[in-house]
Amino acid sequence: MTHRKPKPRPLSRRTAMVCISSGLVATAFGVVDRGEAPGPVRTEPQGEGRAEPPAAAAPEPGRQAWMPEATRKPLSVNFTPGGLREMRGLILHVQEGENSLHTHFSDPAVQSSAHFWVSQSGEIEQYVSAHDRAWAQGTGNPSWLSVETSGFASRPLTAQQVDSVARIYAWGMAQYGWLLEAATTPLGRGLGVHRMGGRDWGGHSCPGPLRSAQAGEILGTVRTRYPR
Ligand SMILES: [Zn+2]
Repeated sequence: MTHRKPKPRPLSRRTAMVCISSGLVATAFGVVDRGEAPGPVRTEPQGEGRAEPPAAAAPEPGRQAWMPEATRKPLSVNFTPGGLREMRGLILHVQEGENSLHTHFSDPAVQSSAHFWVSQSGEIEQYVSAHDRAWAQGTGNPSWLSVETSGFASRPLTAQQVDSVARIYAWGMAQYGWLLEAATTPLGRGLGVHRMGGRDWGGHSCPGPLRSAQAGEILGTVRTRYPR
């Protein structure tokens, strides 16, 4: 799950539960809702740490910004161009809903996004370039790419989703040198889950125990099916 705007409007079921670190972090930091002005692309979500240095260590230009196997659906809002400070790996989220998140993440008021989305049948959509910062997990945004997975925390990832997240991960290993291991803290490297960031990442349980426990299965799939 990623973010929710501070003042939610009525949402459909498929989008209402998308997780929401920016709003909670904003609350924790005492940041006031910045109003309803449709944000330009550079609008920064609350609580991301504005004192961070500029993205001098952004991914090298020669590396692929868009995964060739993914359906490219670039957002025009809700991300920070060139905003990656480093590349620690990939963070797994659960949508708590179904169907593409492109329309949801294209709403300027939502103030959230993710780099990738994977359907239950394994389709991959990419919304944000790997050279840019998606708004998915609070203070972790400058350091990690993010993948939303369709479905609910009460149900595990489908076999097709495991395979597709593994393909994303193998791509990240090839392009950015991600380590073939599980990350367990925001200072780690590898494949992590949203909830490992605790309060600084919005205090979410996302993606829940079932899907969190599948990180090993994803890495195993990378190892056996998509070795370099
Ligand atoms: Zn999440």
